[in-house]
Amino acid sequence: MMLVESCPQKTWQHVNSARQRGLLTGCVPTMGALHQGHFSLMQRARLDCGFVTATIFVNPTQFGPQEDFSKYPRTLEADLELCRQAGVDLVFTPQTDRMYASDAETTVRVGRLSTVLEGAHRPGHFDGVTTVVTKLLLITQPERAYFGQKDFQQQLIVKRMVRDLNIPTEIVTCPIIRESDGLAMSSRNRYLSSVERQTATSLWGALQLAQHLCGQSQAVPAAVEQQMQQKLLQTAGVELQYAVLADPETLLPLPERVSAGTKAVALIAARVGSTRLIDNQLLTFG
Ligand code: AMP
Repeated sequence: MMLVESCPQKTWQHVNSARQRGLLTGCVPTMGALHQGHFSLMQRARLDCGFVTATIFVNPTQFGPQEDFSKYPRTLEADLELCRQAGVDLVFTPQTDRMYASDAETTVRVGRLSTVLEGAHRPGHFDGVTTVVTKLLLITQPERAYFGQKDFQQQLIVKRMVRDLNIPTEIVTCPIIRESDGLAMSSRNRYLSSVERQTATSLWGALQLAQHLCGQSQAVPAAVEQQMQQKLLQTAGVELQYAVLADPETLLPLPERVSAGTKAVALIAARVGSTRLIDNQLLTFG
């Protein structure tokens, strides 16, 4: 039977008792409005671990003042059903006031990595993420925690934080789950009108173009980037925020020339209508 808990202390006790029974503990942190992307993380955790906790918490501190916190989709009943189907043992779904005391003063901040790309477009976002992830890891005590490559910068930052703070959790990154036409699954896709939903596939189109161009011999990073940007700028209904290639470990720009075998990540953020979408693809230069 799946347990559902809103109390941090009781959650910690459930997990602790599983650990004492010798079970490997895993955690899948989410904001709910679950889809097949989340499901794949829970399935992977189920395969690896003897005790799986999923967390469902729409974390206010990672939303900017103009962002969609209040209208973020909340679908708890359907979410719990999906967790059940994935074989989750415990769902931790706290109220905001159980997570944040009104006089809380502590923030966990990762340095440069959290100031570029998403961090530059969403100031303070990653401070909210790293603070809540730290709290969720302390509450759910996982030996492994599962994050999606969909939020590429997020998983990189969480890995850096866990290493820097000696948090005894291994961060496992899981592949991006896509719709059949390539659109990366996201809780925010439900905001898209049917025309916008069509337009949104252009992000995947641009990533595929980047992949194709990188595969050609002597490809030049700046030229690949430019073509990716051009493709998106020419798509009606897309308001491009960034489309860049970066080093997949540091998110620093690539050198002007790269040798065959160089790894990179293409990262895109764009608005389609009022919905902000992100996507990415790992690349290897040919
Ligand atoms: P969220 O509920 O959006 O905070 O996402 C919770 C976790 O699910 C994060 O680690 C995301 O990266 C991951 N995730 C979201 N969408 C996908 C997807 N399409 N494929 C794989 N993982 C995903």
